[in-house]
Amino acid sequence: MRIAMISEHASPLAVLGGEDAGGQNTHVAELSAALAAAGHDVRVYTRRDAVDLPVTVRAPDGYDVVHVPAGPAEPMAKDALLPHMPAFGRWLAQRWRGGDGTPEVIHAHFWMSGLAALAAGRRTGVPVVQTYHALGTVKRRHQGAQDTSPPGRIRDERELGRAVDRVVAQCQDEVNELVRLGVPRDRISVVPSGVNLATFAPLGPAVERDPGRARVLTVGRLVERKGFQDVIRAMPLVPDAECVVVGGPPEGLLETDPHARRLRALARECGVADRVRLVGAVPREEMGRWYRSADVLVAAPWYEPFGLTPLEAMACGVPVVGTAVGGLTDTVLDGVTGDLVPARDPRALGAAIRGLLDDRIRRFAYAGAARDRARRSYSWAATAQRLAEVYGAVAAVRRPTRVVA
Ligand code: UDP
Repeated sequence: MRIAMISEHASPLAVLGGEDAGGQNTHVAELSAALAAAGHDVRVYTRRDAVDLPVTVRAPDGYDVVHVPAGPAEPMAKDALLPHMPAFGRWLAQRWRGGDGTPEVIHAHFWMSGLAALAAGRRTGVPVVQTYHALGTVKRRHQGAQDTSPPGRIRDERELGRAVDRVVAQCQDEVNELVRLGVPRDRISVVPSGVNLATFAPLGPAVERDPGRARVLTVGRLVERKGFQDVIRAMPLVPDAECVVVGGPPEGLLETDPHARRLRALARECGVADRVRLVGAVPREEMGRWYRSADVLVAAPWYEPFGLTPLEAMACGVPVVGTAVGGLTDTVLDGVTGDLVPARDPRALGAAIRGLLDDRIRRFAYAGAARDRARRSYSWAATAQRLAEVYGAVAAVRRPTRVVA
């Protein structure tokens, strides 16, 4: 099939770890690669955020990335992109109407992409599949007044869910949220993200470490909701172990990054500064080396739409201590591949990490079960196959082209 992926802020070619560059970039990159490997023709449309970007770039994994002019050609916070979505949608429709590779299906990632996709879909008669990656209702619940989303987000997400041809949820928790939002259950398909089983495998090089000290690894953008502050607060309960935090800005910029500074100050306050190390952003292809160096991966988000990092660790045969939220409740089998604890509870987190580090036999049992679960249930090839079935089903329904000015 000819498939258009819309990922307005998250380019599959971006460097990860920064505030707006994380799982969605990885997801779009891996999914596009897996669909291309299965013989589909995939183009990813993302916003042009630098003047020197060519319109089309061929990714090494066999798909095209098209840079769409919508708003200034410079980096912008994703929450500021909404006013540019109509231009994004118009540009797509114009290009496809001009005969440049009209797709059979559009798969939009994140709600703003969905708005652009819907606008282009209505003009060209192409069906739209929507993956939210994150939901405004959940963000509002957890971030309250600190939520920087545009004010109409929740309303727009509801309308989007009712207007698109299919919504793809990534876990059962998201299905429940979507139904509460007002999206009809029969329009929702559940297809979890995958994990790259070649990059993330138990065997392979590992980052050097002190063999005499247990290593707790935690990975992600250094935003508050990822719960790194709870991991640091848990460390006094885990004597002797070191805590390595991967993610955030590149290492050289950690000194001035407000999130990194806050975490370092907290580590000093908790008396664990000598055992907490921030390493900054790590290129995607090096992530396996970091997971393999760890005894346990801790993922302590307050909420998490899916959560790739626990799954990546599992694929490397690393047990997980995580919070029982969002996608983690599907991916991490509590007491089998890891331990789940309540969110925002450093004491429970510390006790679980310590319990696992103190029990070598259970750790090895979890490691084997984690690796097997990742391999059996979360390959990108399987995810791509399931999504291709969804695409085929929506594309089989003939749709009128609405003339929109
Ligand atoms: N990641 C990376 N380098 C970093 C930090 C993170 O490559 O320095 C990757 C990580 O391996 C994972 C993604 O970024 O693939 C984070 O995805 P997740 O779903 O855990 O969180 P999100 O950023 O989407 O909230």
